[in-house]
Amino acid sequence: MSDNTKNRNNDSEYEDVCYICRRPESTAGKMIHIPNNICICKDCMQKTFDSMDKMGGPFGGMPYMDMFNMGQPQQEVPKRQKLKKKTEKSHSGKEQPQQGIFDIQHLPAPHVIKGTLDEYVVGQDFAKKVMSVAVYNHYKRVLTDSESEDGIEIEKSNMLMVGPTGSGKTYLVKTLAKILQVPLAITDATSLTEAGYIGDDVESVLSKLLAAADNDVEKAEHGIIFIDEIDKIAKKRNTNSRDVSGESVQQGMLKLLEGSDVEVPVGASSKNAMVPMTTVNTRNILFICGGAFPELEKIIKKRLTKQSSIGFMAQLGDEFDKDENILQKVVTEDLREFGMIPEFLGRLPVVFALQAMTEEMLAKVMVQPKNAILKQYQKLLALDEVDLRFDEEAISVIAKKAVEKKTGARALRAIIEEFMLDIMYEIPKDDLIGRVTITKDYVEKNGAPLIEMRGSGEAKLLTQRGN
Ligand code: ADP
Repeated sequence: MSDNTKNRNNDSEYEDVCYICRRPESTAGKMIHIPNNICICKDCMQKTFDSMDKMGGPFGGMPYMDMFNMGQPQQEVPKRQKLKKKTEKSHSGKEQPQQGIFDIQHLPAPHVIKGTLDEYVVGQDFAKKVMSVAVYNHYKRVLTDSESEDGIEIEKSNMLMVGPTGSGKTYLVKTLAKILQVPLAITDATSLTEAGYIGDDVESVLSKLLAAADNDVEKAEHGIIFIDEIDKIAKKRNTNSRDVSGESVQQGMLKLLEGSDVEVPVGASSKNAMVPMTTVNTRNILFICGGAFPELEKIIKKRLTKQSSIGFMAQLGDEFDKDENILQKVVTEDLREFGMIPEFLGRLPVVFALQAMTEEMLAKVMVQPKNAILKQYQKLLALDEVDLRFDEEAISVIAKKAVEKKTGARALRAIIEEFMLDIMYEIPKDDLIGRVTITKDYVEKNGAPLIEMRGSGEAKLLTQRGN
């Protein structure tokens, strides 16, 4: 098959967009194709001829003349601005069931989702359980169409997760999207602004999702949007200033979270005259918000102490100071106190917290997950036929160092990269090296790694770092 035919076949899944009015084929009707991949809808073509008539004479100074200037390849409509065609609806008016998880038979049960999450994410058992159930319910709701005849409408299970940095919030969501094979858009709440201000409108998250779904609106409408750093758009507490920007971004997000038809630019993050627009319905999009919520512990402690000081449950005030997992006791009321507005919280019914990464968890993160960082280095060196090993003690020293940095699992890579640089540089120099063992001393910069030569079974210490 020639390249051209192949491209055309791939393209057949995408809609053409009118070069002049930017409406897609589904709205504007069949397109007329002219060279350079330019398509024009019949309305615009008619207007063009009408204006030519008015100008008097063939092509007399007409404004659309440029589009017939076929010698300019830069006039092509970029593929990323084309929309995927909608699938046909069946006679009953319901959408045809899609393949994969979008078939209720293939939707993985909560325990299966959690089982797969376990393969990648260490600890966070409670969070994994809550997410698996929420996601399962969400897609069950999507597949069975919540506006069913019996009048029972299942509510959306948008989630809000609280967890310190590097505890796996983004990683959990990414893994979840991979398991479910749905498009995912990740965005940062701090980059969002109210419409009309410099920055991205809240709707820009939908453009990202659409791009992640290959401009397939239907696929995007079943996707997941993760909004990180959501705590940064809390209302400012304890100030008299009239800074309401965070609050109004929260307000702006209400419609998206609940479900509405939103006009979205295709292939760009902002609306402008040259960008085609399409409508995305957010009713079935799963929104997950995450944030570290610093000092939320204090608010939770205050609430718990107040509760326990009333009635029979009277407890000592400092009892909660010792509780390391106080964050797990978070309820919506605490988040409201933190500065999230009630309407916003009302649209995120599933609230849960992640644990801070302990030394033990960090040690596991390095070795257990399917694509654990140490496994990645082992694979790299295996390509040079070198067996890379890590002493247990070395692993716990790395975990200890990472805890000190207070950035959770994020600290691991930097620490490991630092001492692995010399290894990755030196080892390929010598073909005779068969095995390298990273020792506690080497990680603590008190010694060298253990090097074993191929075949001889003989072990030696690399004399000096970097030599
Ligand atoms: P955050 O909670 O700040 O969103 P991330 O999810 O981005 O943190 O974590 C950063 C990296 O650390 C991830 O890409 C992942 O490799 C690793 N990581 C974090 N938490 C875990 C965990 N619980 N299990 C395995 N890896 C983790």
